[in-house]
Amino acid sequence: MSKSNSPLSIRVVSLYEDVLNIYSDRGNRLALQARAAELGVNLDVHLISIGDQLPTSADLVLIGGGQDREQDIVAADLLSKGETLRSWAGANVAMLAVCGGFQLFGRWFRNSRGLFLKGIDVFDCVSVAPAFGNLRLVGDVISQSAIDGLGTIVGYENHAGQTFLGDSAVPFAEIEIGYGNNGFDGTEGVWRNSCVGTYLHGAIFPNNLQLLDWLFKRAIEHRMSQDGNFDLTVLERMSKYSKLGEASEFARELISTTVREEQG
Ligand code: GLN
Repeated sequence: MSKSNSPLSIRVVSLYEDVLNIYSDRGNRLALQARAAELGVNLDVHLISIGDQLPTSADLVLIGGGQDREQDIVAADLLSKGETLRSWAGANVAMLAVCGGFQLFGRWFRNSRGLFLKGIDVFDCVSVAPAFGNLRLVGDVISQSAIDGLGTIVGYENHAGQTFLGDSAVPFAEIEIGYGNNGFDGTEGVWRNSCVGTYLHGAIFPNNLQLLDWLFKRAIEHRMSQDGNFDLTVLERMSKYSKLGEASEFARELISTTVREEQG
């Protein structure tokens, strides 16, 4: 494919921010915009909700969490976009799916009313909420990411659905404190190509800028493989001094220390 001389612009699709925004997950998109501004990278942000058409391409996709009720609201529309999102995931588009969004990016979710919601199969996992009782997996989480270099990932979880990974799925992280996917097997989230599913709110990006940078770098590489001229020093700057990086590191350190102390 021929490269144009246009400056690089990273296309971001943020799904259903108006419906799936529990614990302000849309803060992930805001953090991304702040990081892009700091690095001098253009973002072309598409806020896509029910009934909206997806753009013809994307470099990075975000979806947040929501209660069962909100998942019911978006499920059919998400299914209608499933084929495109699945093909993007297979073509190395970067994605972050949080909690309720993560569940719907799996094969299916059976909610606490026993209702099955079909997922879009981006991730090889299924999620089941217990039919009886009021068991929820709630609290602070400290985990160690399986992705090389990401290290400690902190966040907050609150979910009834328990997620079980299929044979082809790789966990995003290993639980140190908290429940993670199901409270049984020590896994947290899922990682496939440039896509991450996770139960962690926070929002997760501001407290874990290393994850934002990892996905952003993948998104930049995806864009470069398609079109556009790009100043590669931006990728170098990502790992160097940054005010956001410093603030995020401080928050992550503080959360890890406090939660470890609380857990004794
Ligand atoms: N409704 C889902 C559950 O409780 C997801 C909740 C969330 O996104 N925090 O399992």
